[in-house]
Amino acid sequence: MERLTGIGVSAGAAVGRAVILTQRTEVMRFPIPPDRVDREVQALQVARAESRRQLQGISTRVAHGKGSELAALFDAQILMLDDLMLVGRAEEIIRIERVNADWAVHRAYESLYQMFSVMDDPYLREREHDVADVAGRLRMNLRHGARGPRELLSQIDGPSILIADELTASVAAQLDWSRVQGFATDAGSRTYHTAILARSLNVPAIVGLHDASVRISAGTPVVLDGTTGELAVGPPPDVIEEAQRRAARPKRRSATTVEAGPVSTRDGVRVRLEANVELLEDLDYLDEYGAEGVGLYRSEFMLSGRALEGVTEDEQYSMYRNLIEQVAPRPVTIRTFDLDERQMSRELQQRRRRTRPGLRGLRLGLANPGLLRTQLRALVRASAHGPLRIMFPFVTAVEEVRQARAILTEVEHELGPVASGFSRAAARIKVGAMIEIPSAALAADLLAPDVDFFTIGTNDLIQYCLAVDRTDDRVSDLYEPLHPAMLRLIRLVRKAATRHRIPVSLCGEMASDPALVGLLVGLGLTDFSMTPGAIPIVRQVVHDLSAHEARRLAGRALRLATAAEIEQYLFDALAASAIQRSPSS
Ligand code: PEP
Ligand code: MG
Repeated sequence: MERLTGIGVSAGAAVGRAVILTQRTEVMRFPIPPDRVDREVQALQVARAESRRQLQGISTRVAHGKGSELAALFDAQILMLDDLMLVGRAEEIIRIERVNADWAVHRAYESLYQMFSVMDDPYLREREHDVADVAGRLRMNLRHGARGPRELLSQIDGPSILIADELTASVAAQLDWSRVQGFATDAGSRTYHTAILARSLNVPAIVGLHDASVRISAGTPVVLDGTTGELAVGPPPDVIEEAQRRAARPKRRSATTVEAGPVSTRDGVRVRLEANVELLEDLDYLDEYGAEGVGLYRSEFMLSGRALEGVTEDEQYSMYRNLIEQVAPRPVTIRTFDLDERQMSRELQQRRRRTRPGLRGLRLGLANPGLLRTQLRALVRASAHGPLRIMFPFVTAVEEVRQARAILTEVEHELGPVASGFSRAAARIKVGAMIEIPSAALAADLLAPDVDFFTIGTNDLIQYCLAVDRTDDRVSDLYEPLHPAMLRLIRLVRKAATRHRIPVSLCGEMASDPALVGLLVGLGLTDFSMTPGAIPIVRQVVHDLSAHEARRLAGRALRLATAAEIEQYLFDALAASAIQRSPSS
């Protein structure tokens, strides 16, 4: 037995088999029973066949287009699918180590990558990018149809303990904590966000284990003690039994104790939970999770990598209609394309020309009014089939909203009665602005009279407010949702919305974070849109929450000067459990 010591951040004992999650590479490693090995290998072969089909399609399209010389690159990638060192090696790993295919591909890829990266020949060294592409495609196809970590973990027998390099709130929110008994992370310190998360979820947890996710093999039995911060790896039966006795009466939050449906805090404040949707397949689970509508449909996902110019009004119309009909009678909020110049134009894609920074979202739409008009026409036509709200992304100023609304009004006049099929009384489509740029947040009171609703997009708001690129790992530690400026901006927008009597929701990642729900409700927000899989756990947290206490908590948090102080304060408040009643009490 090996004992690892970290910082216990959420008390209690937990026993189970280790499931390893490497968030940095977004790959999960878990053991599979012997009778599943053949199925896993089969899944790998299906993913290979699908990848081949996709690559052949791309190669043919490219060969007939302008950059025909690029077709050879895709042909080389097709050959890599037959390379014994990639898929062959992955199959071997599945059979020998009895692990999931996603992990096996990742491992095989890493060995190949090492080989390519030390080659002297620059041409061969360059091939490492192709290997990365092919492995990424295989893994994407392997996951296709799987609903993320929650579904993956449901394939594991018996209780498990999650060992992760780090655990983000959005992944944590999607796990089934009735199966996962506790978690331990390599990263973290006591005041870290992860610790607050563990307390919100009421699961035993240890942080700061440095390299546990590398040292522990998937499937090894572990005993976690969140009180002492000790993790026993491969313990003898008596240690397991003793820990099982201590873990016998867990105060754990199960995602299923509150039934799907409308939820209120325990002091009666109604909170609406909607889903963020990118793919139509996500809609299959709206009922199961109890989403009250779609609060954000990221319409650019319908392009799946194609340039915008090639997508017709009719194609868009049938896509939006399909979406609206599937969600009705619940409302759908469709966000107009949030693209930059390169994603918009085939020419720019091929020439790899530099694009103008900041020309994105609604700004880009207004710079290309023909494309915006086409989308608005498709949306207005689709609105005849169910309740639709249109939302503009990347709004920076009032005049942008006015111009966009003017185009929408023209389109509505052009189309006339087509749009009134759903409900004549509700013929006017609600139009909202994403508040995701600090200028929009600071001028929210001026924007409010020109829109029907606000949606706060914290993902971009954090990056532009704090000047941190959210996609750049090197500065990710500066990306801080709990920065005092963020709390102030959120409060400002909520106040402007209340004053102008328009609804305001929040749809960034912060909404799917069980650790932050209390604070956000305390800041006066009651509408959230999030990753569908996070809805059950957020509903549970809301159900156990006192809105009154949450407001007091937010009031105090707003007086603190640093994100660290705010984190520490939330952590202590959860420990005292003033705002969140523990599930078993
Ligand atoms: C946001 O910025 O918070 C948001 C929801 O939009 P996206 O993540 O698509 O930029
Ligand atoms: Mg955004």
